[in-house]
This record gives sequence, C-alpha cells and structure tokens, in this order.
Amino acid sequence: MTSKNFSDLPLCPELQFTLQELGYKKPTPIQEKAIPLVMEGHDLLAEAQTGTGKTASFALPIIEKLSKKAPDPKYRSIRALVLVPTRELAIQVADNTLEYGRALSMRVTSVYGGVRVENQVRKLKRGTDILVATPGRLLDLLQQKAIDLESLEFMVLDEADRMLDLGFIEPIKQIMDYAAEPRQTLLFSATADESTEVLAEFYLNDPKKVRVATRNSTSHQVKQFAYAVDNSDKADVLSYLISEGQWGQALVFVRTKKRVDELVQYLQREKIDAGAIHGDKSQRERIRMLDEFMRGDLQILVATDVAARGLDIDALPMVVNYDVPNVPEDYVHRIGRTGRAGEMGQAVSLVAPVEKEFLNRIEKLIKQKIKLRPVPRVEDGQLIESEFVATKSKKRKVKSKGKVAKRQTVESYQKDDSIKSVRPSPFGNKFGGDN
Ligand code: AMP
Repeated sequence: MTSKNFSDLPLCPELQFTLQELGYKKPTPIQEKAIPLVMEGHDLLAEAQTGTGKTASFALPIIEKLSKKAPDPKYRSIRALVLVPTRELAIQVADNTLEYGRALSMRVTSVYGGVRVENQVRKLKRGTDILVATPGRLLDLLQQKAIDLESLEFMVLDEADRMLDLGFIEPIKQIMDYAAEPRQTLLFSATADESTEVLAEFYLNDPKKVRVATRNSTSHQVKQFAYAVDNSDKADVLSYLISEGQWGQALVFVRTKKRVDELVQYLQREKIDAGAIHGDKSQRERIRMLDEFMRGDLQILVATDVAARGLDIDALPMVVNYDVPNVPEDYVHRIGRTGRAGEMGQAVSLVAPVEKEFLNRIEKLIKQKIKLRPVPRVEDGQLIESEFVATKSKKRKVKSKGKVAKRQTVESYQKDDSIKSVRPSPFGNKFGGDN
C-alpha cells in the first residue's frame, strides 16, 4: 500500500464512495501510479503482477472519463474494450468493473468462448459501455457484424504476456484493425519481455511506463516451501499435508487435465473435499466449482494453469504446485493467487527428481532460493521441518490417517533421479501438455 489516499487521486465523489463501500482504504502502488497517467490521457505500458490491484488501476480512470461524456442515448456503443486471455479472467474483470462503475450506472458486458454465442449477441444488443472479451470470441462477433468498435475510446490489453503465450497474436492484430482511432491504449503485463514490448511498439502511442514489481519477482507476502517427493508419492503426501496440517482452502496446480481428475478422485477417496477445474469441464461446471470455492464451500480446488488464470479469491492462504511448472513464469502467476492485496500466503511445491531442473529455472527467474526440504512432520496442525536424514537406506515413514506416506531423504533424492514407488500409484509419470 502507499502513503497516498484515494482522495489524493483525481476520481469523482461517486467513485470515492464506491471504494469506501468496497472497503478499499488506500490505493495500491499500481493504482497510485497508473490512475493519474490514464486520467491525463496517456497510453500506458504497465508491468504489474497479478493481485496488485491492477484491474482497478485501469477500470477506475476509464469509468471516470466515460462518465464525463454522455453515451449515445439510442444505442450504447462500446466505448472501452478490455481484452483478456481467459474466460475466467473475463468474468472476474467484468464483475470487478461492474462493481467499480455501479454508482455511475456503467454498463459492463463480457464475452468469451465455450458458451453459446446467441446469448451473448442478445446481451450486446442492449448496448454496453465497457466490453470485456477474450480475443477469439470477440473476433467472431466482429466478423459476424454483431458488434463494432467504431466508437472505441479506450482499449486495454490485460495480461498481454499471457495472451501472447496462448497464441492470440493473430486475433489481436485483426481486432486492432476493427478498433477506432484515436484511442487511448493501455497494456498490462505481469512479466515484461521482448514480445510484449513489440506489441507495445506497434499499438501504443508514446506510452508512459510504470512498473510496480521487480521483473518476474514473486510477492514478498508469500512464504515459499519446496518438498522433495517422488512423483508416485505426491498424492499421498498432499493428502497428509492437507489433513495433518489442518489446512484451510488451497488451490492446487497440476500439469494435465488427466492428472487433475486423478488427484481429485484420490483426495475424495481420502474424504477430502476437493473439486476439479480444467478445460474439458463445461463452462457451467467450471462456474459452479469456482462459485463453491469462492464461497468457501469447497476446500481444495485442483486446476490446470489455463483454467486457473484470472481466479481472484480473497485471502487464499495456500497455493500448491503439485507439479512444478516447466515454464518458470507460470510459477509467478500461480503463486500470485495467494498473498493478494495485503494478505499473507504460502506456496508449497512438491518437487519430483525430474522436476528439480524446473525448480532451478524458477529460482533463476525470481532471483531467490527456494530450499528443497524433506516432507515435514505435522504436529497439532503445525509443520515441523525435520533434520535431513543422511543415509539413503533410512527412509522415515509418517502416519497419514492410518496410511503410510513415504518420506524420502534429500540425499537419496538428490542421488536418485529415477521415480520409485513403494506401492502402486494411481498416477502415471506423464508430463504432457493437455491443459
Ligand atoms: P487485481 O490485481 O485487480 O486482480 O486485484 C486483486 C484484489 O485486490 C481484488 O480482490 C481487488 O478487489 C483487491 N483490491 C484492489 N485494489 C484494492 C485496494 N486499493 N485495497 C484493497 N483491496 C484492493
């Protein structure tokens, strides 16, 4: 948080009131920096990691500026467009923006793939001031002439790095051809690299640059742990940590859809309240699962990276990297789901021998060491980090609800890069990419 108050920022009384109602006490650093620049009419290239309050940093000044000009009374044309990488993020950003603009009667609509286009066309016919969209579905609607961007005044590329990772460069280019000029364009990216800079060069006009986190840094609000575990023991170890550690809610990242389903079945058999969210689930199922998790009715949400993108859950205490991501930036995105907006969080990674290399790459990216430890004992819900056991043959066992979870020594783990199992595992060793 910053030393400034919202009353120091150029926002109208209606927005100040809304922020008070939402319980926001002070602007976050990105809000303090970005809001005045957007109000002055600059294009913006902002590097801000997830959870920093970046949605409000673009939505508030856009709403403020839109509210100063009356919309076309007959047809409320789209005056601001926010492009986002995933449907979950589209829903999230649209919900937040609607909240922020409620006192000024802003109309906010979201469109994304995976649901029937007809309903979205019907919604859009009623007119909207701000449209939040994923690139593919938006392009469809533009090509069908269901909407136009001829009255566009503001364009936001949110999580631009992720949109490029997901291969949306072509639809973005085509959407830009439909978008009216001159307009104010804002590009937000969690991690800045060459490709986002090229995008900025192409589509931003003399932008002001703001940056609130060091490049690819992780939030200091998040305590990070890594445990050395054989791949075949991961489910057992996770279930032990959840039960014995008396965890509250946790978001668990798993590499593939198949592994998500397998883990959820395993946890459910262990009587742990777990649900899955990934790209093969219907939109309805995904929304239901998310709602349950957000309401606190579901303890453990197991997800692939793509499905979890954009989740914004207040005060999520724990993120688990059940599989260590092979793209190091994904680690930053994942653990950004906890320790948000001033809350403390923990990130736990279960590291199989073959994943050690991924952990090294992550450490290089975040310029921080994440110490690899043996699986801890848990006493009265507290993790007790035990001393390393020196000999390879000495494998300590811990009780987990009548079952036995193998605890491997760090030494044996470091020496032995094969994946061993003390009993048949429900998991294969597949590291596919079917997110
Ligand atoms: P974002 O980075 O936009 O996804 O925001 C992360 C979370 O922080 C959301 O739950 C917001 O509601 C919350 N938030 C945004 N700005 C503030 C603020 N100034 N004070 C407290 N919470 C905030």
